[in-house]
Amino acid sequence: MNSMDKLACIDLEGVLVPELWPAIAVRTGIRDLFATTREIPDYDALMRQRIVLLRQHGVTLSDLQRILKAIKPFNGALAFLQVLEAKGYRVNIISDCFHELADPLLHLLGGPTTLCHRLTVDDEGFVSGCDYYPRKGKEEHVDKALAQGQQVVAVGDAFNDINMLRQASQGFLLNPSISTLSAAPDVRAVESLEEILELIG
Ligand SMILES: [Mg+2]
Repeated sequence: MNSMDKLACIDLEGVLVPELWPAIAVRTGIRDLFATTREIPDYDALMRQRIVLLRQHGVTLSDLQRILKAIKPFNGALAFLQVLEAKGYRVNIISDCFHELADPLLHLLGGPTTLCHRLTVDDEGFVSGCDYYPRKGKEEHVDKALAQGQQVVAVGDAFNDINMLRQASQGFLLNPSISTLSAAPDVRAVESLEEILELIG
């Protein structure tokens, strides 16, 4: 099997880097920014609420980018991606995050190929909307790779990853919440990135 045949689909927030919106909520003091898809299951509705809140509190995209400078990848995250590549995997980051927020972190992770969304910004510098990566769930990307005969390893930590993890040749749920874990008892749960490297051999 050559390297074109092995793909690793890796979630970003909660797997390689901390969750970004809780950090933004803490630093801006906007409590409602702690809301997640647990409270508002429709991601686009959640993002529209976040955009309204940022505007109401006068927080621009540059402010967000300044806040997120304090965030660094988890220890071992870059090494994890490097080992995957050394094992012959192409790495794709499959994330519901936005390039405008995540790019500095992705740079620190060696600039892996990333399939995530984009934010639009108005004349005053406020986030005005979302330009979504065209896919129906993260699993669509895995389905395409499997259809091309590739072997797919996938890693995620939350509800929006479960279908991708189920679809993959090998899927791993990294440190999930209790509710995510109970929603996917059939998916292998692990406690560290190192454990995943051992399990894929
Ligand atoms: Mg995540």
